[in-house]
Amino acid sequence: MAQELAEGSRKGLILINTGAGKGKTTAALGTAFRAAGNGMRVLVLQFLKGSWHYGELESAAALNAVGGFTYELRKLGRGFVKVGGAEADPEDLRMVEEGWAQAEAAILSGEWDLIVLDEINYVISYKMLAAERVADVLRRKPERLHVILTGRNAHPSLVELADTVTEMREIKHAYQKGILAQRGIEF
Ligand code: ATP
Ligand code: MG
Repeated sequence: MAQELAEGSRKGLILINTGAGKGKTTAALGTAFRAAGNGMRVLVLQFLKGSWHYGELESAAALNAVGGFTYELRKLGRGFVKVGGAEADPEDLRMVEEGWAQAEAAILSGEWDLIVLDEINYVISYKMLAAERVADVLRRKPERLHVILTGRNAHPSLVELADTVTEMREIKHAYQKGILAQRGIEF
């Protein structure tokens, strides 16, 4: 059986959820939910902190509080919103550095089975973090660790390094009808 095969030969994967359609973060959180249920130690690092209160924070905390499950979700930074050609705010850059230091330490620590780097692709495409630094750490990750990177415009060098890359393609989005973000669906 495929399941048994996977048990015997666990190979840590690098996955990327990218593209312009909705579902990159939710698919990563779904995988995290699946992994945590398997008793795997899951860490989700969210690089872009929105102003909303995200429901997944409560779900992760609740699961984490139950014996036998490890599902930690940490928000990093203060919501870096750099659009257009403006120079990045030094304070945002400092927080990206701090966030990346935390991510790097977690990846290399051997303490986790799955790490989600949520929205890291944005941080890279905004040139706040060099793709090469991320690739270098991913190349040195523990063999059994799975890592998921999310966000639009995944860097080509990371796409090349990854094992599984999925591009979410937008067919339509409620936003285009003027429907605002919905609780439980968007946050
Ligand atoms: P989600 O967190 O819902 O899985 P995502 O991670 O794929 O979304 P992000 O780029 O992180 O997408 O954007 C997050 C927010 O933007 C969500 O509220 C999402 O519904 C919204 N969004 C995503 N794609 C689109 C789109 N094509 N048009 C408008 N809004 C979008
Ligand atoms: Mg997202």
